[in-house]
Amino acid sequence: MSTNTATSSRAAGHARLLSDLVAGRLPDARGRFGPFGGCYVPETLMPAVHRLTEGVYRLLPDEAFQQRLNEELQDWVGRPTSLTRAAGLSARWGAEVWLKREDLTHTGAHKINNAIGQGLLARSIGAERIVAETGAGQHGVAAAAACARLGLPCVVYMGEVDVERQAPNVDRMHRLGATVVPVTSGDRTLRSAVNEAIRDWVTDPVGTHYLLGSAVGPHPYPYLVRELQSVIGREAKAQLTARAGMPDAVFACVGGGSNAIGLFHEFIGDEDVALVGVEAGGRGGALGENSATLSGGRPGVLHGAHSMLLYDDDGQIQETHSVSAGLDYPGVGPEHSLLQMIGRVDYVTASDEEALDAVAECCAAEGILPALESAHAIAGARRWAAENPGARILIGLSGRGDKDMPILRRFPVTSTGVEETAHAAS
Ligand SMILES: *Cc1c(COP(=O)(O)O)cnc(C)c1O
Repeated sequence: MSTNTATSSRAAGHARLLSDLVAGRLPDARGRFGPFGGCYVPETLMPAVHRLTEGVYRLLPDEAFQQRLNEELQDWVGRPTSLTRAAGLSARWGAEVWLKREDLTHTGAHKINNAIGQGLLARSIGAERIVAETGAGQHGVAAAAACARLGLPCVVYMGEVDVERQAPNVDRMHRLGATVVPVTSGDRTLRSAVNEAIRDWVTDPVGTHYLLGSAVGPHPYPYLVRELQSVIGREAKAQLTARAGMPDAVFACVGGGSNAIGLFHEFIGDEDVALVGVEAGGRGGALGENSATLSGGRPGVLHGAHSMLLYDDDGQIQETHSVSAGLDYPGVGPEHSLLQMIGRVDYVTASDEEALDAVAECCAAEGILPALESAHAIAGARRWAAENPGARILIGLSGRGDKDMPILRRFPVTSTGVEETAHAAS
């Protein structure tokens, strides 16, 4: 086959995958997003996965379930969240900037949309107990709150290192009635916490539901989490078109990828809208210095799915770094790997330093303290705005920055921005 023929048949394949995505045909029956996704779990878990999959495809389209979910989203989570016209950032950047305010949800980040949705689902399929993993503790807090709300016992696995680093969130989980189990195996951070949560689930696959916190893991999780988070994009699109029109570009930060897929999903078919995911560029491009899975990774299998992944030449999963704990993960959801492969979403990075600058700028210009994770999206949007004057830009503000005060304290505010006193957070 000539190079030209190969190129054009690849382009045709990508176009077909995009139309499959837009038409709602992905993930397919095997849980695949093109070459990515799937369900790589121990045999002993397959009955639990099948039961969950059956429940997901039965309940998500069910009117009574949706009504119950919407009640919780309105009354308890605080939806719809505001769309804020960012006049200060707009003036500074020479653009028209809008912020989708997931920071205003109950518990302070988008994670609650998924936690309450999965909690309701778990109860409906007869689960009597919830297990969850958490890294920085944001998903653990959301899961603990949702379980308290729904009267379900909740066990949260958290790496020992994170238990020490994120003490206030451990206290929050305890007060919300959850049991927090420190994980002492492996790297003692998020990756080990996921392993332990899966191990727990294997021992009681019928009575326990694993409440996974991002659009990662085996099928049906990437699909389930996308469906529960896509309320972000549905609201944002309706709000923005009512007040201004369609955006030229949409930005979101990407850790596992749940807030980004939630914001992007509604816009995937609008091919005039540029979609940009911003990963954690950390301290630099070398393996181990960042958490930029799509920018620097290779395909592989982790936590039940085939997706892009950061690993070394011996196949060992790489330890990652980001100033924002929520982006500090060596994998990414399989749908993002597909969106990158077919060129529908651009994935770029923002460094620790750019994210810290973006926190300062958003505070000064808008009176909003964004989460360090969300600040990566702001930093990516700022760079894009410089090359696209006057553009209308929608940014997903995934969470509030109050949780980051212990880290931000190391970077005191100066008149020009922030000044580093300690070496970048580890
Ligand atoms: C956890 C978290 C993220 C990263 O998770 P995604 O699944 O990639 O969205 C981003 N922002 C905030 C505020 C978080 O708490």
